[in-house]
Amino acid sequence: MHSYDSNNIFARILRNEIPCKKILETEYALAFEDIKPQAPIHVLVIPKGPFVSIDDFIKGATSKEINHFWHAVGEVARKLKLPESGYRVLTNSGRDAHQEVMHFHVHILGGRSL
Ligand code: 5GP
Repeated sequence: MHSYDSNNIFARILRNEIPCKKILETEYALAFEDIKPQAPIHVLVIPKGPFVSIDDFIKGATSKEINHFWHAVGEVARKLKLPESGYRVLTNSGRDAHQEVMHFHVHILGGRSL
């Protein structure tokens, strides 16, 4: 397991050092468009806290952070009108899943048949 690197790309996006196309920002979460979309709608949702992976998040985040994070995921999907047509939420964790950015994030994919 990696320790959290505060210079990972999403940490830099959170510090506004790198721009992003923001979809939603709350006290605990940020959602923005993926730079290399795999579907017509491809949004990443990240917690603002320093968590490497889903396991790290579940173990280390407060109930409030976890609750707010998943509510943000739902809010993004509704904002993009995805619940009616359907969508996919996924997270990659660690080596076998080819996690590229070591700041926990979920992908929201939709806008076509997946
Ligand atoms: P992972 O494989 O870690 O689940 O996916 C990381 C995702 O982050 C990829 O889909 C990749 O396109 C996206 N990504 C990487 N760098 C940037 C960036 O600088 N800006 C944005 N918006 N997305 C990024």
